[in-house]
Amino acid sequence: MGIADLSAIITEIAEEMRFAEVRGKVADYIPPLASVPHTKFGIAVVMADGSLHTAGDAEEPFSIQSISKVFALTLALGAVGDQVWKRVGREPSGSAFNSIVQLETEQGIPRNPFINAGAIVVCDVLLGRLEPREAIGQLLRFVRELAGDDSIAIDETVAWAEQETGFRNFALANYMRAFGNIHGPVERVLGVYFHFCALAMSCRQLALAGRFLMDGGRVGAHRVVTERRSRRINALMMSCGHYDNSGDFAFRIGLPGKSGVGGGILAVAPGVASIAVWSPGLNPSGNSHLGQLALERLVQKTGWSVFEPR
Ligand code: GLU
Repeated sequence: MGIADLSAIITEIAEEMRFAEVRGKVADYIPPLASVPHTKFGIAVVMADGSLHTAGDAEEPFSIQSISKVFALTLALGAVGDQVWKRVGREPSGSAFNSIVQLETEQGIPRNPFINAGAIVVCDVLLGRLEPREAIGQLLRFVRELAGDDSIAIDETVAWAEQETGFRNFALANYMRAFGNIHGPVERVLGVYFHFCALAMSCRQLALAGRFLMDGGRVGAHRVVTERRSRRINALMMSCGHYDNSGDFAFRIGLPGKSGVGGGILAVAPGVASIAVWSPGLNPSGNSHLGQLALERLVQKTGWSVFEPR
């Protein structure tokens, strides 16, 4: 597909989303998310040749929330390798992102690193070697480097609001601590987790940060992770990236992806493109309603689903 075609496709998608009537419900558990206008929509696509295409509100930073779980997992795998899998599973949860029920039957081992409980364990893994301030700095440096953009920042208002309202996350962390699967003090672990959730990035920055997953673990000549690790992270994004809506995302879109309750989705067409979409209205599972619809349109028009015959 020519570059002109792709630009036309995403402009057309952004236009369709601008006029969509059903837009989902903006997350309202904290004021800084509740106040984001539901009219926002942005899309950015970085192709394997490095070309970048954007449409709509692609330059506006938003709270990436659970999408940060992908970057946190990548750092934890870099720190302790496959040891991570002794403490976190690799199966879809089939339940909500903040569910506590499976932790009882599964002895405090979260189903996967992309639900809250799993990401909290990932933060605890990082704190095995770092102070909270260092772990937060490491994640920020990592996404800045991946995106090639030093302006990426953490929104402290969001981090603070998460802390103030994160009773369920405290419950999850304490419960896992009772099983011995959280080693550090819960307040320290969650302080890191809440700051990770509060990363603010635009679609452009996010699509750029996802390049390593498109390109077998590399960004240009720079190797970020091994090919095998990149493949595995993509596999987890495909099976677990959308909470209890992951099966439906694979069915409709067929790309590894990770969503966050800020309304962002990072999706990867391996070897082809890294894509970020943002629209704050969510479906009942906490995934961007228009973000998913836009990705569905994009794969229909481009044939980028990984299930498409090559
Ligand atoms: N800050 C949210 C929480 O921890 C993250 C939710 C999400 O994006 O999945 O509950």
